[in-house]
Amino acid sequence: MRIESNPENVRAQVREWRKQGLTVGLVPTMGYLHEGHKSLIDRAVKENDRVVVSIFVNPIQFGPTEDLESYPRDLNADSRLVENAGASLIFAPQPEDMYAADFSTYVQVNEVSEQLCGKTRPVHFRGVCTVVSKLFNIVAPDRAYFGQKDAQQLAVIRRMVRDLNFGITIVGCPIVREADGLAKSSRNTYLSPEERKAALCLSRAVRRGEELVDGGETDGDKIIAEMRAVIEQEPLAEIEYVEMVSWDNIQIHHKVDGPILTAMAVRIGKTRLIDNFIRE
Ligand code: AMP
Repeated sequence: MRIESNPENVRAQVREWRKQGLTVGLVPTMGYLHEGHKSLIDRAVKENDRVVVSIFVNPIQFGPTEDLESYPRDLNADSRLVENAGASLIFAPQPEDMYAADFSTYVQVNEVSEQLCGKTRPVHFRGVCTVVSKLFNIVAPDRAYFGQKDAQQLAVIRRMVRDLNFGITIVGCPIVREADGLAKSSRNTYLSPEERKAALCLSRAVRRGEELVDGGETDGDKIIAEMRAVIEQEPLAEIEYVEMVSWDNIQIHHKVDGPILTAMAVRIGKTRLIDNFIRE
């Protein structure tokens, strides 16, 4: 599997593909790849002639007390997964390949970044938008693939692409779950066996919310209260937020009367997990 760390080499390769008239898909990741990432790569391989998978634990999207140092990394295993999935190139830069010592340009998307994770992770989406803009400029793909697992991120990237005329099609892909319902995440590896069981309260709450909405309940506060109650039954769980927002602008919304996102962040011990459902 070809692994490139230098942005200019990636740009040169993509230029070659373009000369041959080939289409290019991009799957941005932080590595430690699992079936969720693989579903994005599979879709990208189906829809594009060449696929670049980026693997970069982006320091500027982590707050000072977050898990940048401990974030799991395994480039060998990742490389096997990407090769088997049929992608063409891994772009795995080092932080110094992406950020000059005097780096000073950031992309800030307002409104859609403000609620949910934006409240508790104040620099997060600015870091995500900055690095994704850089990836878009380096790779210049036709399409880029993002998981609904990070639903707010998907909304923020869509807004950024529209506002800044990137001219890239953003493809949102459904959440891939473990057999017992837990949304797949690189961070699940932090969980002890006891915490792993406790973590099921997130997907249980999501299912409860979905049942209510699909059964015709439109009172957002009632739906959120029932979902919170499911999580509160789990002693190891500490809720950061459970909220309903409008899927269009990620502003708090109290009624199911249009496209909605219901999202949560919950700490299980030291591990922060997220989950959600969308009804469009
Ligand atoms: P990450 O490596 O966690 O930054 O994730 C890279 C991409 O994979 C993001 O677009 C995520 O939304 C997506 N992703 C992560 N986990 C899942 C999952 N369980 N199902 C679908 N997509 C996922």
